[in-house]
Amino acid sequence: MSFPDPSTRLCGVIGHPIAHSLSPAIHNAALRHDERNAVYVAFDVTDVETAVSGLRALGAVGVNVTVPHKRAAWELATRRSDEAERIGAANTLVFTEEGIGVHNTDAEGILRALDDLGASPSGVRCLVVGAGGAGRAAVWALASAGASEVLVANRTEAGANEVASAFGAHVVPWGELDQALGRAEIVVHATAVGMDGEPSVIADEALRRASAGCRALLDLVYAPGETDLVGRARAAGIQSADGLRVLVHQAAAAYRLFWGAEAPVDVMREAAAQAAGRDRTSPV
Ligand code: NAP
Repeated sequence: MSFPDPSTRLCGVIGHPIAHSLSPAIHNAALRHDERNAVYVAFDVTDVETAVSGLRALGAVGVNVTVPHKRAAWELATRRSDEAERIGAANTLVFTEEGIGVHNTDAEGILRALDDLGASPSGVRCLVVGAGGAGRAAVWALASAGASEVLVANRTEAGANEVASAFGAHVVPWGELDQALGRAEIVVHATAVGMDGEPSVIADEALRRASAGCRALLDLVYAPGETDLVGRARAAGIQSADGLRVLVHQAAAAYRLFWGAEAPVDVMREAAAQAAGRDRTSPV
């Protein structure tokens, strides 16, 4: 029988907008590699509750969730993983007979991307720039991985205060970001700045000063080529990777939740690079 057939399993991602999501390319490459009779589809959705209920009625295995639905999806949980409970946002829902299992694999994606850079947060001071959903996941990930201290800076200080008090981090005033960079061994950039190629909130001079003590800088943003921040961090001598690597690792963790099996990460990495239009000069 040809593909898809009546026993083809369904999974996917819901968001709004969703047209530029790389997740279908990443997951479908893995499904094909593993010869699963399954398909991963992107759905442009505004009503999360109705969409999730429809997907469950259709027998979907589960669904990834992206902007702006991560909180609304979290509310639908029958059961939440520890990290989803603490982060307060969902990026993966798994459908079972018992109901909806809610997970957040962004934190795992961040830690695995740091691991690729050879940087363990355990026992070191870390700085997170940004305190939106991604910043919150980053602060939780670093704190739970044993960072000696997590500093958080956000343009709107109320956001930093909220994240800091939730996870025992320390707030750095936005105007003191440059100095804080010089005190951190691991830096995670989690603001939305840089997606359209605009210059980063982190200045060259600060990167140069930070380079002596900074082991790794992870930019959660990704763009078709290297982000401005990653390029300048590398030029300053800091090991650096962008958000495409995080995207691959969070997708691999979601795949494991959907299928109960390890994901073919290298296949996903290659699919992500191709879908993002990367060439050999800026690999994932
Ligand atoms: P969000 O919840 O909307 O938060 C946006 C953050 O960016 C806030 O901290 C906001 O600060 C800050 N910001 C926006 N414009 C700014 C500016 N001009 N100057 C300084 N700060 C600014 O978004 P999010 O979900 O956290 O996502 C943030 C970024 O991470 C996005 O680029 C997203 O694509 C990326 N991300 C990547 C992955 C991955 O897998 N690679 C996963 C999740 C997110 P205020 O509080 O002051 O507004």
